[in-house]
Amino acid sequence: MNNYKWLLDAGHGGITNDGKYTTAPAKMHVFEDGLTFYEGVNNRAIVDRLIPMLKDTGIEYELVYDQVLDTPLRQRVEKANKLYDVDRRGIYVSIHSDAMPDGAHGKGSGLSIYTSKGKTSSDLIATIFYDTYAEHLKEFRIRKDLSDGDADFEEDFYVLRKTSCPAILIENLFFDNRREAEFLMSEVGQQKIAKILLLSILAVERMHPALTL
Ligand SMILES: [Zn+2]
Repeated sequence: MNNYKWLLDAGHGGITNDGKYTTAPAKMHVFEDGLTFYEGVNNRAIVDRLIPMLKDTGIEYELVYDQVLDTPLRQRVEKANKLYDVDRRGIYVSIHSDAMPDGAHGKGSGLSIYTSKGKTSSDLIATIFYDTYAEHLKEFRIRKDLSDGDADFEEDFYVLRKTSCPAILIENLFFDNRREAEFLMSEVGQQKIAKILLLSILAVERMHPALTL
């Protein structure tokens, strides 16, 4: 089972050896008691847990992000498009977590998946991921936009718009929501999200949809 090449993007950047977070402060959150969530670090932690699972199951993947640097989106997409051009088997998955704007922190909750606008094969991929999250992440809200006949939200995000392959962006819960941040920072939580990603990937491989854009 190796129909696709999974192009993995952990959103934003990590922390350098001298302790500097490489991403804008909007992509982190400090709770009242000092607990600090760094989205870029957590996105990487989830992919770090997914990688050995992919290796174990023989799923092909490539990383389009840097372990520490917050490389420009253009660079990530160029790398993905080059990889896709080789054999046109690529599917781009961008891993993020969500937050509400200043003044509304803590008011958002749940999981959402985004695709580019219009009907594309990305919608098919998003639906398979949604179904897997709904089945395995019952303790959290699954956010859906059913206005256009499927569950995913559609936005002009750069990595969705500029990738030449099917692409989805997953907002794994809200990191400015205490309960969700604690889950995301825990080993159990990270392992669970990585497992759901693996199961989603395996489901797509099994269903083997044609990737027409
Ligand atoms: Zn993000």
